[in-house]
Amino acid sequence: MSEPEGASILLIEDEPQIRRFLRASLGAQGYRLVEAVTGEDGLLQAATRQPDLVLLDLGLPDLDGVDVIRRLREWASIPIIVLSARGQERDKIAALDAGADDYVSKPFAVGELFARLRVALRRSASSGEPPESTFTVGDLQVDLAKRRVQVSEREVHLTPIEYKLLTTLVRHAGKVMTHEQLLREVWGPPYAGQAHYLRVFMAQLRRKLEVDSARPRYLLTEPGVGYRLAAE
Ligand code: CA
Repeated sequence: MSEPEGASILLIEDEPQIRRFLRASLGAQGYRLVEAVTGEDGLLQAATRQPDLVLLDLGLPDLDGVDVIRRLREWASIPIIVLSARGQERDKIAALDAGADDYVSKPFAVGELFARLRVALRRSASSGEPPESTFTVGDLQVDLAKRRVQVSEREVHLTPIEYKLLTTLVRHAGKVMTHEQLLREVWGPPYAGQAHYLRVFMAQLRRKLEVDSARPRYLLTEPGVGYRLAAE
């Protein structure tokens, strides 16, 4: 597993204060930063500089950030993390559905941003390797080969749908998944609008896996957007 330090990050952001802040904080962590102020320049820099990750502001002067994601995704599979304003859940969902890996809400805590960067870089570094058959976070262990789920070394029995929901989240651990993405993957495309299915089964999974299902440690809610399985 390669360490993210030294990774090159393309920042596409028109606000000078945020660029200045990220230049200082990412540089201090050993990341190399390439900057673009417009969407068109960002696309050009992505193609010519081949960064390891793109950090993308959704509100750019020339292009809609979601269109930048669509155009990048036509040829690039590098991780994209979106910077978006708090409360703009529809924008976040559109960005994730267009192919963004994750988002950070402005104003963001730098510790949270670094955690998201680490997870996204680690996921992309290991994407060419065969998948691990066992996923572990905290006291939760999911053995995909044996189809066995344990919490604190105690076996937990899941229904087929609960298991499918959990393993879908395991395959995307650390990444936020929209309600629609989860419904499509677990129940199939005709169920993409049935958000109540997800609520019911997520509540069941939490009761079985979490110490305190009202304050989950593993199955995290991204308000208005979807869910994320904790990866660290
Ligand atoms: Ca902006």
